[in-house]
Amino acid sequence: MDFSAFQKRIAKFKKPVCRCMYVSPDGVGCKNPPIKSHSLQKSGALKQIAESGHVLSIQPNFTPQKVDWDFRKIGHSQASTFPGYCKKHDSELFADVEDSYKTFDDRTVALLTLRSISREYFTKLAQIRMWTEDAAQAGFKKSLGENSYEQLIDNAKAAGRELAKAKSIVDKALSDNDFSKIRHVVAFHKEPLPFTFTGAFNPEYTMQEEPILPSADEEWGSIFAFCGNIGDSFVTLLSTVTTIGQGECSKFLDSISGEYSKDRNFWLNLGIEYVENSFFRPSWVAEQSEIKKLLMIEKFRVENSLNGQRAPNCLIDLEIFD
Ligand SMILES: [Zn+2]
Repeated sequence: MDFSAFQKRIAKFKKPVCRCMYVSPDGVGCKNPPIKSHSLQKSGALKQIAESGHVLSIQPNFTPQKVDWDFRKIGHSQASTFPGYCKKHDSELFADVEDSYKTFDDRTVALLTLRSISREYFTKLAQIRMWTEDAAQAGFKKSLGENSYEQLIDNAKAAGRELAKAKSIVDKALSDNDFSKIRHVVAFHKEPLPFTFTGAFNPEYTMQEEPILPSADEEWGSIFAFCGNIGDSFVTLLSTVTTIGQGECSKFLDSISGEYSKDRNFWLNLGIEYVENSFFRPSWVAEQSEIKKLLMIEKFRVENSLNGQRAPNCLIDLEIFD
């Protein structure tokens, strides 16, 4: 595919796939068009790491000859946006984790989880739209083979259904003020972390390398991740909806014992390996040796290249912090 075709496809990827994702407690969806919602708070997590209005993310640059991956500058107001909620709901729904934030409680966890789910759900729907458009479909069928292509689409649709289910459970938890179906592990860090991320992933192993991969016809369940500051706290949070999947994601949360929960290398590895929606403080990246920068880029590239398989575990193989 040439570069202009790729750019057209990416531009299409960023277009809304649905109306505002807000659903009222009586089940009525909002009909307003979505704006660019922030999956990380513009005034919180992103601002904390921004310098001169910019943050860095690891991105590919396509040239006719090759793809170059590197840390690239992005305006902090553009970073991590997706067309998820209308103007009214983007500000009202998430007020308690933005300007009206008071204290970290179960509601905070639910709102940060909802934001991760919403972004992931948008990404999944946009992927399905992109993969099933005529030209792309032909290309994918040719490169993957018809059966693998059908499998790819089926898997993406199954993941989309699961995320929709997770979203409705978290929506209900927020309207009922009953957070019993959301489990989480949170760590409060003494110092600010020089990176921030939010996203979702399906763990295949616990941190003790016990396999927790469900079979293809079972629900997988997801872990939702947030790393960044909220109010005056520097927080890393993983959460899951316990009624989806076979409870395997809870095993992953259980496996993150105290030894990992405050380890900055663990969170950096997790952010790079599992969460593509990760951003870095420019001066912190600049301070790193060339080899450390290359190792971070390489880990990100391997994990995020289209045909790359997920590594079997969140290995803490990058030791960037002493
Ligand atoms: Zn709305």
